[in-house]
Amino acid sequence: MKKALIIGGGIAGPVTAMALQRAGLEPIVCEAYQDAAAEQLGAYLTVAVNGLSALSLIDAHEIVKQTGHPTGTLSFSTSAGKHIADMPIGGTLPDGTITHSVKRRDLYRALNAEAVRRGVRYEYGKRLVDAQSLPTGGVRATFADGSRIDTDLLIGADGIRSRTREIIDPTAPAAHYLGIYGLGGFVTDHRMREELGLRPGIYNMIFGKKAFFGYLVAPDGEIWWFANMPGAQELSTDEMAATSPAQWRERLVAMLSVDRTPAARIVAATPDETFVPGFNQYDMPSVAKWHNDSMVIVGDAAHAVASSSGQGVSMAVEDAVTLAISLRDIPDTAAALAAFEHERLERVERVVEHGAETSGDKAQNGLMRWLTRMLTPYFLKKAAKSGIEPLSWMFDHRIEWNDVTGVTVMRGNAEESD
Ligand SMILES: Cc1cc2nc3c(=O)[nH]c(=O)nc-3n(C[C@H](O)[C@H](O)[C@H](O)COP(=O)(O)OP(=O)(O)OC[C@H]3O[C@@H](n4cnc5c(N)ncnc54)[C@H](O)[C@@H]3O)c2cc1C
Repeated sequence: MKKALIIGGGIAGPVTAMALQRAGLEPIVCEAYQDAAAEQLGAYLTVAVNGLSALSLIDAHEIVKQTGHPTGTLSFSTSAGKHIADMPIGGTLPDGTITHSVKRRDLYRALNAEAVRRGVRYEYGKRLVDAQSLPTGGVRATFADGSRIDTDLLIGADGIRSRTREIIDPTAPAAHYLGIYGLGGFVTDHRMREELGLRPGIYNMIFGKKAFFGYLVAPDGEIWWFANMPGAQELSTDEMAATSPAQWRERLVAMLSVDRTPAARIVAATPDETFVPGFNQYDMPSVAKWHNDSMVIVGDAAHAVASSSGQGVSMAVEDAVTLAISLRDIPDTAAALAAFEHERLERVERVVEHGAETSGDKAQNGLMRWLTRMLTPYFLKKAAKSGIEPLSWMFDHRIEWNDVTGVTVMRGNAEESD
């Protein structure tokens, strides 16, 4: 059985492990931290319906459904509190599943726990520092603790600051700071929920004058929120550690108070314990080289999609399943990795481009541009008339576990180019 060493126990790591296991490979996951979830930034994630569809191929979409809750509609408002429009966040899977929101920490823990439950071997506290292709085939991975693991194949699911990406291509681009700080939090205040008339399933987005604000209410009544505010300087680790939740709260409330929306009140009511302090937001220029003969990158390591697209998790999951199909159907590892990249590249680049349009260097201007484009009367009327969702190309993508057609074509190409 082919051994695959997966670097990173975030999202792409455990899903790749479960998919490879199903494809007949033997995965091991090595995670740098003792608990990956504890290191993650951000409050919650929206797992889009295309990602849930990919997860269903390995019977893992129920994990998201059990951990999170359905969030099928985006509702946009202005800084004056005026409702502009509602839009669906993707369609519905045959079993009725729609896009879900889930706390980041819960999702990381649940996916990794499921991989362990399915018998995937995990090693925590193992930070990859180097990897070399062996003359006899396969790879030798070296870790910060001095240990080594020999494997047939190394998969970097090690996030936006991927070490695997650098090993595969030392000239690979680094993550690029977007000029935006992200923040978030959770508030349990039933009176506020009732006063605001919040209903589960609706993800409210406010284009404030100084900051962008998103919030929703979970079925248990807890309000989940995130905010994006412009930040000229990339924060250092020391700066992040030195700024308390109270300082961030004060700063954000001041920015949101200029709007006539509930945002400032929600942030002000968020206690320190559930306040996610400011962190830098990044994207990444296109990565030219995803693989060599025995190493490959997946998820954010290969293509960090801007968080505003809500597609980072789904892209990671689609990668994981596609890689497993390629490795299952193409015995030669190098050809399988080439086929995987070929299969994913065009779609991923389109999603990245869409995400970049929603962010950009000038955070607010980028978001405003996107909103303007999305909400032009022509666009809205057309979408409402046709009943077709504006981003159906993104949400309706489906991968077939048993469909080897695409891979077969690619195998031909890979063999030809050999
Ligand atoms: C604020 C914010 C909001 C977002 N919102 C959404 C959203 O709503 N919907 C959505 O789909 N996406 C969202 N995203 C994007 C999403 O979080 C990522 O796309 C997703 O986490 C990518 O998963 P990954 O497994 O590739 O990387 P990660 O989740 O970053 O996991 C990488 C793992 O690798 C480990 N690691 C790193 N280096 C090493 C090493 N050398 N050795 C061993 N282990 C290592 C890390 O500790 C980590 O556990 C958001 C991102 C941010 C920042």
